[in-house]
Amino acid sequence: MSGETVLVTGGSGYIGGWCVAGLLQQGYVVRTTVRDLGKEAAVRASLGKITDPGNRLSFHAANLTSDDGWDAATEGCDYVLHVASPLGVADPKDPDELIVPAREGAKRAIAAAIKAGVKRVVMTSSVAAAAKGVGGSDWTADETVWTDPKTPRLSVYAQSKTLAERAAWELIHASPSNTTLATVNPALVLGPVTSGDFSESVQVVERLLSGRVPGLPRLGFNVVDVRDVADLHIRAMTDPKAAGERFIAAANFAWMTDIAALLRQRLGPQAAKVPTRKAPDFVIRLAGLFDKDLGSVTPGLGHKHDYSHDKAERILGWKPRPLEETVLDCANSLIATGAV
Ligand code: NAP
Repeated sequence: MSGETVLVTGGSGYIGGWCVAGLLQQGYVVRTTVRDLGKEAAVRASLGKITDPGNRLSFHAANLTSDDGWDAATEGCDYVLHVASPLGVADPKDPDELIVPAREGAKRAIAAAIKAGVKRVVMTSSVAAAAKGVGGSDWTADETVWTDPKTPRLSVYAQSKTLAERAAWELIHASPSNTTLATVNPALVLGPVTSGDFSESVQVVERLLSGRVPGLPRLGFNVVDVRDVADLHIRAMTDPKAAGERFIAAANFAWMTDIAALLRQRLGPQAAKVPTRKAPDFVIRLAGLFDKDLGSVTPGLGHKHDYSHDKAERILGWKPRPLEETVLDCANSLIATGAV
């Protein structure tokens, strides 16, 4: 058992929660930041479905938009997993609503980590920071690719993740300290949820199961399991070879039609509302004019934008699980929590 102390920012979130659970299972002492300490009971209840934290878990209040609390949360830690960042499928009116907390919050968390002399920070970035474009042709990207934040029609979320990751690397490169940085850049994260308060990414399965999509758009994503994403964070935290590296956490590319077919084949009557009809591109584009969530993904209609996880497998021995397990465990957990 490790006994070292790790701060996970955003333990109330989907990926943060699974990182906390994974660390506890490996014997670490874990601190987590939440914006509101009133969430502690709910987070403990949700984590309790995965593991028993015993007396190795504590909560600290810290907001990405304020300096308060970061030093106290980080002091005495061996590692920091900086996971917290606002999600937003739909673009907000003011881009700074997402960009400022993402970028300034990353700077706050990393500055506190440097000050505390932690060994390594692992920051959750995104494949949105490693994309070759938003529309156009099919492509596969890896860690050498950086999203151009000025790309026309790039979502505000993708801008926020790119600018935050850039700022993190700049801060660490400018620091004379021994603290090292690694980033994990996940694709679309699915897998089991432990409460009804789940990440926006899970809406892909939730909307299909609850019949909230009129037809299946020609949209596809690389899908990765939340448990594998947490595992990659922990590997990147301790492996000496991970210092200074980005790691894409991507597993299997799937079209919406593939996910829908899997749900229908394997869940039977519980998937009765999953649509079978394909939605023509023009219908989705039209609907996207009124539905901001849909509007943000229409530039990718019909294009296979994929990501390679070769580097994580080669350097860190990371092996993501098959799509089927990720999608079905996600769906069954949504059914179990009563969300669909
Ligand atoms: P989530 O469940 O919505 O969790 C987001 C976390 O960030 C929550 O703990 C939230 O805290 C915290 N947060 C948001 N704004 C904050 C603020 N101003 N101050 C402090 N904490 C704040 O989303 P998730 O899917 O786990 O995402 C976690 C990370 O993974 C993010 O960095 C996201 O960009 C990245 N990521 C996610 C996906 C995906 O498909 N889910 C893919 C690639 C990358 P509250 O509980 O207080 O709201």
